[in-house]
Amino acid sequence: MTRNSLPPSDVDTLDTAIVGAGVAGLYTAWRLLQGGCRPDDIAVFEASERIGGRLFSVNMPGTSGIPAEFGGMRFPANQRLITSLATQLGLAMREFPEGGATSISYARGKRWRAGDLARKQPVPYALRADELYLNPFELIFKAVQQVLPAMKTMEPHEWAKTKESLTLDGRPLINWGFANLLSRFLSDEALQFVEMGLGYSSVVRNWNAADAVSLVIEYVSSPTEKTLVDGTQALPDALAAAAIREGSAIHRRHRLVSLRVPAQTSDDLHELVFATPDGSRTVRAGRVVLALPPRAIELIPDCAALKDSRTAALLATVTPRPLGKIFLAHEEPWWSPLGLTSGRATTDLPIRQIHYFGTEPGRPPGATGYLTLGYFDRPQLDYWAGLRRLEQPSGSGFTMLDPNGPVSAEVRRQIAVVHGLDQPMTAPQSVGFMNWEEDPYGGAWHTWNQGVKSWEVTKEIAAPVPGTALHIVGEAWSTNQGWVEGALETAEAVVGMMTRVRAG
Ligand SMILES: Cc1cc2nc3c(=O)[nH]c(=O)nc-3n(C[C@H](O)[C@H](O)[C@H](O)COP(=O)(O)OP(=O)(O)OC[C@H]3O[C@@H](n4cnc5c(N)ncnc54)[C@H](O)[C@@H]3O)c2cc1C
Repeated sequence: MTRNSLPPSDVDTLDTAIVGAGVAGLYTAWRLLQGGCRPDDIAVFEASERIGGRLFSVNMPGTSGIPAEFGGMRFPANQRLITSLATQLGLAMREFPEGGATSISYARGKRWRAGDLARKQPVPYALRADELYLNPFELIFKAVQQVLPAMKTMEPHEWAKTKESLTLDGRPLINWGFANLLSRFLSDEALQFVEMGLGYSSVVRNWNAADAVSLVIEYVSSPTEKTLVDGTQALPDALAAAAIREGSAIHRRHRLVSLRVPAQTSDDLHELVFATPDGSRTVRAGRVVLALPPRAIELIPDCAALKDSRTAALLATVTPRPLGKIFLAHEEPWWSPLGLTSGRATTDLPIRQIHYFGTEPGRPPGATGYLTLGYFDRPQLDYWAGLRRLEQPSGSGFTMLDPNGPVSAEVRRQIAVVHGLDQPMTAPQSVGFMNWEEDPYGGAWHTWNQGVKSWEVTKEIAAPVPGTALHIVGEAWSTNQGWVEGALETAEAVVGMMTRVRAG
């Protein structure tokens, strides 16, 4: 018997069961091992065959050495935990390429480059005099600065305290929706320009304005972004490898279907039942860490302890936000003749963002091929999901598509329109599509709901059922939503809590 495959019929007893092998679950395991936990006291259980969850780096057919990042792909250079973790794990980092002045925008039937705006060329939006020639990020900063004049000099941790007491028009900022805040200070036309130019519609929707401002401050405080040379999935992969090397088990294809807390069992242990390829497996554990997003928790069929009204209300404090990605692999970089080397185009067409990979500075030596990424959220996700259904009626989650099929043809048509190409490029070598709205994720990232005191919920969710050693970690209920950093922060907090309990 290896530690990585316990006999299927036994009831295993463990000190700590971690459910979910995304970066939050694996980091929890790694930190507990670092803190002196015995390797065979810890095991990680993952529903799918793959480690990494929402970090998903794929070698597309026709390319090598340039991972197609279907999940997370970059991080602000000042994010402390991810930077230090990548360094400790020996993972090479490089700058995430930005586009600069040559970046193309195409909206309302007009095309322009970022540099045109700086040269005071008009954009096809009827902006107010005080909004003219500002780019979408500057427009957001302009609105946020009305609420928080010191924004530009503020560090994210300083904001974390300020947001608890800030008000706008006599009402707490947490009670404002971000879309309402923006429209309080920007014209309707500016809002439409912002939504187009950000490339993400969900960012400017009505989520908790105080937490949305945090996201803005994060951007302001870190002008550069980084990525991992071998792909972001290298992070969870390296954590998993380290845990297995130490002697801990990682059980793939183990989907949690039932969770009982000690009050429901005959002893002091939690009881977990997993659906496995061989049937089911029961595990008893003193401590349980659910490293799952809300939709995955909702999908656990038998989990009464998390369904009581108080815990259910805690879980319902965030909203999943969908994202979809389509990667095309090419032999040649079709964008080079346009003077583009990196970055992205933004548009009001359903493709929304078009990123180019493979010609940026820092291309790994020996890499082959080039990648184009189409990146969109709601409502345009429905458009692409519909086209995929046309091509693959039963396709879901991640699928490879026909390079000559309807999705590929429409992506190429929209790329040609956005970039002013005479005709669409030839069929790519391969096409991959991922819709993160589908189960078990329910969304790509999460936003705090209006009225929620996120700083209180992050503490409560870490131990949501009083009197039990049941913990929840992950990006969803973090103060850095949409980032790996958020997932790591929650894991760090729970590891600290578990360690204090042990020591006490
Ligand atoms: C398209 C996209 C773009 C993003 N961009 C960035 C970015 O550029 N930078 C950045 O820092 N972050 C980005 N993020 C966010 C980042 O990827 C996440 O914050 C992070 O990966 C979340 O990790 P997690 O461990 O909290 O959850 P997850 O990665 O969701 O892990 C949950 C795990 O639980 C498993 N699971 C689900 N149900 C069960 C069950 N019943 N039993 C057992 N296992 C189960 C899942 O299979 C999964 O492996 C992006 C995410 C997406 C999807």
